[in-house]
Amino acid sequence: MPEWPEMEHYRNMLAERISGQPIMKVQVTRPKSINVPVDEFQKELVGRVVWFVEHRGKMLIFHLDNGKRLLLHLMLGGLIRYESYGAEEDGKPDRTVQVTIGFPQGELNFIGLRLGYIHLLTVKETVARLADLGPEPFDKWLTFEKFKERFKGRRGSLKTSLVEQRVIAGIGNCYADEIAFEAGVRPDTKLNVIEPETWERLYHSMHKVLRNALAQGGYMELPLTNADTVTGGYNDHCLVYDRGGQPCLRCGETIVQEVLNSRKVFYCPSCQKDR
Ligand SMILES: [Zn+2]
Repeated sequence: MPEWPEMEHYRNMLAERISGQPIMKVQVTRPKSINVPVDEFQKELVGRVVWFVEHRGKMLIFHLDNGKRLLLHLMLGGLIRYESYGAEEDGKPDRTVQVTIGFPQGELNFIGLRLGYIHLLTVKETVARLADLGPEPFDKWLTFEKFKERFKGRRGSLKTSLVEQRVIAGIGNCYADEIAFEAGVRPDTKLNVIEPETWERLYHSMHKVLRNALAQGGYMELPLTNADTVTGGYNDHCLVYDRGGQPCLRCGETIVQEVLNSRKVFYCPSCQKDR
């Protein structure tokens, strides 16, 4: 599932292409991916201008010129693809598109929306949908002290809280494991035994890992356009995530894969301590 770096990368790439652009057409082949009848969705969107695209946690919010918003959550398997009109069509991926939004110079295709969705909402509805989200990882108000406070009163393991969107928004299965590796602590460590210096390392590791993943285009498999060589660049750079049974790239020890609260968890038993 796309997490903070993937969605921030998409936001950057989309901002250049669609900010200030009017919506020319809307196609929906999977009505379940939207929240209103297809004809209403089309009528509400065609002719509107996308002012800008905002990123919040694992979601993108397209701000329209009439005050309404499109809330996009790709969930598991969801991808975005932008086709420029007049560009070479040869490389167009053979994937089923659920929703297409057309602009004067190109169209935005939403692919793999099985659990994912694009909902048309009022400002009030959008605020309500985001109400339970924790702060963004790079929120300037999220100091180390505030970061640590987010975990106060919570039970269970580090990973379970790191992936909880109401604690910090945007961290999921992949980056929770990568952050724990960077901080040198096992993701299954119970919160109440984590030492103060480990918390500090976790805070800095969160920024380092997410920033690094963003710089390399996140780990999504599909390029945004044919010419895009950045998207997905992080896929080969994970140090522990999805590397069960393979040697640790820092110490050579075999990476352990376990199940924690029905989530996969990966760690290096030698580089990561249990407190
Ligand atoms: Zn190691």
